[in-house]
Amino acid sequence: MEEGPYRILGVSKDATDSEIKRNYRRLARQYHPDRNPNDIAAEDRFKSIQTAYEKIGDSNARQEYDQKKRMDEMFQGNRGNSFGGGFGGFDLGDMFSQFRGRGQQTSQNKSNINHQEHSIKGSDIESGLDVSLEQAINGADIKFSHRRFKTCEKCSGSSFGTSKSCSDCGGKGVMTKSSTITIKVPKNAKHGQLLRLKKMGHEHPQGKPGDLIITLRLDAEEGRRWENGRIVQEVPVQITTLFLGGKVKIITPLGKKVQIDVPAGTKIGDRRGLKGHGHAGGQLDIEYVLSEIIEINDEQREILEHLRKVGL
Ligand SMILES: [Zn+2]
Repeated sequence: MEEGPYRILGVSKDATDSEIKRNYRRLARQYHPDRNPNDIAAEDRFKSIQTAYEKIGDSNARQEYDQKKRMDEMFQGNRGNSFGGGFGGFDLGDMFSQFRGRGQQTSQNKSNINHQEHSIKGSDIESGLDVSLEQAINGADIKFSHRRFKTCEKCSGSSFGTSKSCSDCGGKGVMTKSSTITIKVPKNAKHGQLLRLKKMGHEHPQGKPGDLIITLRLDAEEGRRWENGRIVQEVPVQITTLFLGGKVKIITPLGKKVQIDVPAGTKIGDRRGLKGHGHAGGQLDIEYVLSEIIEINDEQREILEHLRKVGL
């Protein structure tokens, strides 16, 4: 099976656009051909990183990719009854086929008519919205644009499902239009929180519009990521501090400077929870990573060589 772009870029599906960009830059540097001359594996990796980034590196491209992925999953093995009219990688027939089925049932089963009519509805649209930690804490109004089917203005949707022709929508009853709305992010919003915007999904020529379902994605910022609703912050520690213990200073997501006591014998990947320092007063998990050593001087080299001699 094909490895998905999220996996290739080492991010979760609910990562913010900025996190995707940061990871892409890091990986592209790491696997760049200039840094890995004559390494075919690195070259392949570099290429797949580029391709993955083309799919989800730009927020519009990502929205389209996610949408297509969802449609593919939803209509797997059910592509026979579409009637054309491509939009964003999937087609209109897919959108309405389920509703047409129910519509036919309605005319055959009059006792159920009210119940059935309620189910004729445009599809919901799912999308993500990136929010900074500050916006999430204080609440914010954020402009959001998305494309959706809107009822054709010329025929008011009356041409759908009939032999009537309409020069604007070609008998689909809807047209693809862009909608820009303001989304109210509530105070103390959480990563992964869903907001349902009624009737802002796809319109249906003969039914009610679907909803727009927004997943809030909070940008944890450089060196941090979300895990199970908590922020994990990487704390770079020097190798000597790992062995001997010591102190490191960190800046928390809330912007506070905190000094951490690192016990002797700490390992890379060890974690600690700091209560009250996470998003919206929750727990912040810190994870020790090795601080990057760019260059060592002669004295340090000499000492390292001595350490090797004595078996470290
Ligand atoms: Zn029309």
